[in-house]
Amino acid sequence: MLPSSYQSDTAPRPGLAAHADPRGTLAAMDTTSAPSSAPIHRPKRLPMAARPRGFYDLPLQDLEARFADLGAPAYRARQAWNWAYRSLVPSYDAMTNLPAALRRDLAERLPLTTLETVRDLSADNGETIKTLYRTVDGELVETVLMLYPDRATVCVSCQVGCAVGCAFCATGLGGLARNLTAGEIVAQVVGAARQAKERGRTLTNIVMMGMGEPFHNYDETMKFIGIVHDPDGLNLGARRITISTSGVVPKILQLATEPLQVNLAVSLHSPNDELRSRLMPINDRYPIADLMAAIRAYIEQTGRRVSFEYALMRGINDSDEIALQLADLLRGILCHVNIIPLNPVDVLPYERPDPAGIERFAATLERAGIPTTVRYSRGLEIDAACGQLRAKAERLREDQQAPR
Ligand code: SAH
Ligand code: SF4
Repeated sequence: MLPSSYQSDTAPRPGLAAHADPRGTLAAMDTTSAPSSAPIHRPKRLPMAARPRGFYDLPLQDLEARFADLGAPAYRARQAWNWAYRSLVPSYDAMTNLPAALRRDLAERLPLTTLETVRDLSADNGETIKTLYRTVDGELVETVLMLYPDRATVCVSCQVGCAVGCAFCATGLGGLARNLTAGEIVAQVVGAARQAKERGRTLTNIVMMGMGEPFHNYDETMKFIGIVHDPDGLNLGARRITISTSGVVPKILQLATEPLQVNLAVSLHSPNDELRSRLMPINDRYPIADLMAAIRAYIEQTGRRVSFEYALMRGINDSDEIALQLADLLRGILCHVNIIPLNPVDVLPYERPDPAGIERFAATLERAGIPTTVRYSRGLEIDAACGQLRAKAERLREDQQAPR
């Protein structure tokens, strides 16, 4: 028996869900400006300070200041803000109550978005939509929208690649390419809000569980949250936003002091240092005792429940003994465990346990009094975990650029 909180249709890591397509129905709806078969040339990677900032990088106050520089009054900025985040228009052209000259100026000096859509992939009867974007300097970014009966959740990336290098994760394979700007993260949310709207739905939740470690890009992450939270804009309340971290202790403590109290999810994956360090090199820097101390301090300060993510891997972290160790570690902490049956990555050796093993691990935790949910990706994966779509596109790009 699975625990009562068992769910089969949710994926706390939406990046994992989009690959699900056992029947091969994953449809490529190519919205590409450059078809995927065309050579993609990578422009030079730009340092953070040199990256162009667009409309989505600016909180309303900064936008008003920017409009003032262009000689436009503050109410014009608020009109544009409404168009961008309420009407979700894709270009300044559609902001019909702004003077044409201002729209031209804006298009020249403040791009609305700095991400270009490369392609959309849909799965699960169109209820999962994975989008690959390209940045101005040619990096590839993945975003996933998941439609559920009661909500629509987008999983955003905050970095291209990731420096943490967890052993089982596709994103970490190539290291970190670069941080995304706040605007590049906002653009993913706006894109998803538009996709939801086209399907008669409203975007309700954000999870930062795509590519990258949000706490290695803290400032842009906080700026992003401020922009999408704005009640006059996308209006995604803090309770509807979840940040997932591999356990960057100082930033967990810093998050506790932020005025906007978003949900915190911590990727644990092992209750002991020996195993956790093998799976997650960051554990050498912030071992479990330090991590748990930070989490206790966070809960004390905020009164908020923390989620622990636990990617279950066959023969690695799925024994009864480890389940009991995990229960001991978490006993008395205001928390919830999300078990994510591993999404295998083709070039990595880790496997998902069979359903009985998953059920048993969850049941052991539940019996020990730890609230637990099993979160399967939708369907079966054909393309492995988050980061795979980008990895594939990168391989294609390399093939195309290789001398013949
Ligand atoms: N870097 C952050 C957030 C992005 S990863 C973090 O690590 O928390 C989001 C979640 O997906 C993390 O819990 C991560 O451990 C998990 N994950 C990564 N690769 C996975 C895989 N192949 N199968 C299942 N979960 C995976
Ligand atoms: Fe980075 Fe998270 Fe992947 Fe680890 S699991 S490599 S922290 S994205």
